[in-house]
Amino acid sequence: MERCPKLTAAEPLRGLSTPQPGLLPVLVHSLSMRVRILGSAAGGGFPQWNCACPNCRSLRAGAFAGKARTQAQVAISPDGRTWFLLGASPDLRAQIEATPELHPHPSSSGDAMRHSPIAGVVLLNADLDHTLGLLLLRELQPLRVYATESVRRILTEDNAMFTMLQRVSGQLTWTDIVPGTVFSLRDPSGEDSGLRCSALSLGTRYPAYVSQSRQSELKSGEASLGLIVESNSGKRLAYMPAVPQINDTLLRELDSADILLFDGTFWSDDELIRIQGSAQTANQMGHIPISSEVGSLGLAGSARQRKIYIHINNTNPMLNEVGPEYAQVREAGWEIAEDGWQFDL
Ligand SMILES: [Zn+2]
Repeated sequence: MERCPKLTAAEPLRGLSTPQPGLLPVLVHSLSMRVRILGSAAGGGFPQWNCACPNCRSLRAGAFAGKARTQAQVAISPDGRTWFLLGASPDLRAQIEATPELHPHPSSSGDAMRHSPIAGVVLLNADLDHTLGLLLLRELQPLRVYATESVRRILTEDNAMFTMLQRVSGQLTWTDIVPGTVFSLRDPSGEDSGLRCSALSLGTRYPAYVSQSRQSELKSGEASLGLIVESNSGKRLAYMPAVPQINDTLLRELDSADILLFDGTFWSDDELIRIQGSAQTANQMGHIPISSEVGSLGLAGSARQRKIYIHINNTNPMLNEVGPEYAQVREAGWEIAEDGWQFDL
């Protein structure tokens, strides 16, 4: 795989989080992939509605040295006009409204008032905080959805509400992801965007709402994926919001990415147990913790690579920008994703 050694214009364009409404996206001549972080928190967001942990309490009191975040959501585009969503978060409606590039434009053909720059959605797992947003996209808009056969069956065969996405032909077009194989992102009409993906099987656990009998019919390797997206020019994005462990295969993929968006859910393995009194460990929940000897903080990466934590739980102490954990993360060469960040590759 040939890769360019250096990123161009990859500083987060923080000012772009609130661009002027009504402006069409400015096309960058050399743009081959635009990556937009619409949401950077784990399930529940920050603050979480029923959480009174020190972080959430302090944020609500206006005393927190850190930022509120919506639930993890990434959007990518080959040209700044056609967009694909990585996941479909429960905050998707607000995230779309906060992002002018994702607003509909009046069209001269067809239904003049109905349009969306969003062409498709790539689902990495069947978690509610990764799929509920699909139901928010139900207004008969044609979309292409990529997911493993197992995730598609869970959503469409076991959850009657998802039939709202199949009311007319051509509304949702499902394309099965087979881990380990390369697929192109296409719009609902089948046109190739030029973005090529490959998915790695990362986790074998299905969400708790999936019945045991259903789980027995599913392939365990289709439960949770990590995604590599490659642009026409060979630039690579790795999106890995749920990583249970790091092995050599994963390491090779991570090293090849120009931008790495990685599981930043928990700082420590016993974080929820200490803060909530009872819960599972990070490892039991399928997330490698950031700290500890085997944690992700020690991932070296390459010099040209940007390493960014995303899917950050509201209990994570690194959210506090004056705390020691935040300093430790930054010193180790990692960044902590914020809603609205954008990168051009
Ligand atoms: Zn909290």
